[in-house]
Amino acid sequence: MTQKKIILTGDRPTGQLHLGHYVGSLSARVHLQNLHRQFVMIADAQALTDHADDPQKVRENILQVALDYLAVGIDPHKTTIFIQSLVPALPEMTQYFLNLVTWNRLKHNPTVKLEIQQKGYGEEVPAGFMVYPISQAADITAFKANLVPVGDDQIPMIEQTIEIVRKFNRIYKTDVLVEPEILTSAIARLPGLDGRAKMSKSLGNAIFFADDADSVSKKVKGMYTDPGHLRVEDPGKVEGNPVFTYLDAFGTDKTNIEELKDHYQRGGLGDSSVKKYLLEVLQAFLEPIRERRKELAKDPKQIMEMLHRGTEVAIAAADKTLHDVRKSMGINYFG
Ligand code: ATP
Ligand code: MG
Repeated sequence: MTQKKIILTGDRPTGQLHLGHYVGSLSARVHLQNLHRQFVMIADAQALTDHADDPQKVRENILQVALDYLAVGIDPHKTTIFIQSLVPALPEMTQYFLNLVTWNRLKHNPTVKLEIQQKGYGEEVPAGFMVYPISQAADITAFKANLVPVGDDQIPMIEQTIEIVRKFNRIYKTDVLVEPEILTSAIARLPGLDGRAKMSKSLGNAIFFADDADSVSKKVKGMYTDPGHLRVEDPGKVEGNPVFTYLDAFGTDKTNIEELKDHYQRGGLGDSSVKKYLLEVLQAFLEPIRERRKELAKDPKQIMEMLHRGTEVAIAAADKTLHDVRKSMGINYFG
């Protein structure tokens, strides 16, 4: 039997979850929770790094994200789901890790660089936002996670975490921190409806689990396709065409999808026909999730109680690591 691993992933409660989350991380979590010890974190403290002026939005989305988790099949009996800001070991570990990373290194994290640009921060980037990869290293190591299933925008975060782990263990002559391994899926980044590289809550180009059938239909009809495919008889491009990427991600009839791709590339297949098929595929996938979500949303108190229980478990697990961290640094003054 393979060794049980420890998994840590999470999402920022900056909005509801969408198909990109499913492809990049949620589907792996649903599967892995049966094999390993899994922690899933609602990263409210991280969300505040770029939403300091809108805590209400973060607060409200905690419930929304939790509903999405349960609706897609994350099972709180198998997975510990918790709220980041309630785990005091995390900011404390972040504080120690901050001293192990140079400002220059932070400035070169490609995902953070891109996000700074997208958010138009320029030089006025909040310090908390700039250092969020370090707090992510604390999240991962506090749970001794050795497997992190995430989308490929997270690769630089895991690299930075590994650097911190190595430096910490070297300086303090310990093996208390564990090096994580990233697990990306076959489609590690789902493009947006608008053809941009990433479907994202903040970019307004997403299909959400909570979307009703009508809005999914509208969104699919308005999707970006190959801009060079003007007339039905023209040959079209499949690469970089999100309609086909979504079919690859969510379609089950692979033979039919390959035929559609061939036909599209030859010419003679209209965008509206492919979109019609995609809509069927997506509705079939989303319908049961949407229904489950609706049912669960009737009892928000129960969801919050589940999060409370999970958070208690997470606090205890992270405290244990923090204790070892302080000990290896020699700052456990009273034992
Ligand atoms: P925000 O815009 O607030 O950053 P987001 O949509 O990027 O939101 P996050 O909460 O930052 O979502 O990401 C949570 C997880 O989902 C991460 O593992 C991330 O890699 C993954 N993820 C998010 N969007 C996509 C996507 N389009 N394709 C694949 N994975 C994704
Ligand atoms: Mg993000």
